[in-house]
Amino acid sequence: MESFEEHYASMCDAIKKHLPGADMALIDRAVDYANQKHKVQKRKDGSPYIIHPLAVAQIVAEMGLDCDAILGALLHDCIEDTDASHEDIEKIFGPTVAELVEGVTKLTRANFSSSEQAQMENLRKMFMAMSKDIRVVLIKIADRLHNMRTMQYQTPEKQIQKCRETMDVYAPLAHRLGMQKIKWELEDTALRYLAPMEYNEIMSYLQAHKEKDEAFMRTIQDKITQRLTSVGIHNTTYGRIKHVYSIYRKMLAQGKTIDELYDIYAFRVIVDTIPDCYNVLGHVHDLFSLVPGRFKDYISTPKPNMYQSLHTTVIGSQGIPFEVQIRTWQMHETAEYGIAAHWKYKQGTGTGTEKDFEWLRIIECLKKTGMSLKDIREYIELAMQGDETIARRLELFRKQRTVLETRMAELQQTMDTLDYKCWFYETAAARGSTEGISDLPDEALPKALRPVRERLRAAAEAETEEV
Ligand code: MN
Repeated sequence: MESFEEHYASMCDAIKKHLPGADMALIDRAVDYANQKHKVQKRKDGSPYIIHPLAVAQIVAEMGLDCDAILGALLHDCIEDTDASHEDIEKIFGPTVAELVEGVTKLTRANFSSSEQAQMENLRKMFMAMSKDIRVVLIKIADRLHNMRTMQYQTPEKQIQKCRETMDVYAPLAHRLGMQKIKWELEDTALRYLAPMEYNEIMSYLQAHKEKDEAFMRTIQDKITQRLTSVGIHNTTYGRIKHVYSIYRKMLAQGKTIDELYDIYAFRVIVDTIPDCYNVLGHVHDLFSLVPGRFKDYISTPKPNMYQSLHTTVIGSQGIPFEVQIRTWQMHETAEYGIAAHWKYKQGTGTGTEKDFEWLRIIECLKKTGMSLKDIREYIELAMQGDETIARRLELFRKQRTVLETRMAELQQTMDTLDYKCWFYETAAARGSTEGISDLPDEALPKALRPVRERLRAAAEAETEEV
């Protein structure tokens, strides 16, 4: 059983590290409030419930979010699970925190389904919540991450259901938001329950080869570090094994066993400046043999989720291929924490950083043009098909958007003008209605409608004559 003291202490450490100016008295007040409200509840392992909000708040602090988000995390299950109301929370912690808790509650109740068709609907719910306040979704992701970490206490049925949902909704979402570190942990934990045999097979292989792998990675790491230090490039370099789910996916896609896999090693070189990145690339290509066709420059062309790095695959003297990722410290933080990292940098600049993400900006724009939810969903669906498609769609959309915005503005202006009336009557006439056409002045009447009006006038005259 886990203790309140332990979790409280590590949450405070995370807050002090990432948010030194936080109002600890207010945070303690939220801890007490949540503790009081959840008093009768227990976690599945018998621990006091408060451990969960504390852990979620810690993750939110590690993401680098602000004090309101931490308070929101501490209170995130209060509306759902206790008698606390929006008003109660607003009275003590203010409207922003109350809104955050309300938003998380809505997502908790959204009941994400795992079926194919429902996936888009799930993502749409997320996007809608996000476009209001990105922190709602970030707290929800932190909530899921802690639930995944404590999945062993759930029933087997619940494990499968929650892990599918994590694979279908939360991991792709973390990916879209550029939160690589969290995405990997979600995927690896979910795999452990969804494909336990495969997961264990990979884990025991990695365990059995641990010493060999570590020796190999040390050799390469030393080689890179020595070279870079000798030419005066300040760097942090380390090797790692790619995460379990990505190894699993590679095995599945290529129909190979783990020892036949092409590259499971990745090295990171983190430096201070962008020119350093390109210098490091030169040295890496000088030290090892390049594998052709594997170099990618995500610095000059970032991924849609803002990820930036240089990627190259090379082969060392031992004949083992490995990937090297070269980036600056800022790129590193963006790669690990994605939108949360940016949220932190841009705090207080007004409009909110979520708008740095092109596709979020587009959703905003789509909403403003009054586009229907169905159309927005269709757009998201396209955007979901993959990074390349997104990039292409975005390019196209940037152009379309300008056209669309201009046309919307024009339409607004002409709404009550004769042009609009004519257009309206023209469509009405196409449906067989002639209402209103007789009253339009000549100069405003479209050519196509002139014969219609002639007929109407003739008919009207005939009627008059009869009387
Ligand atoms: Mn929760």
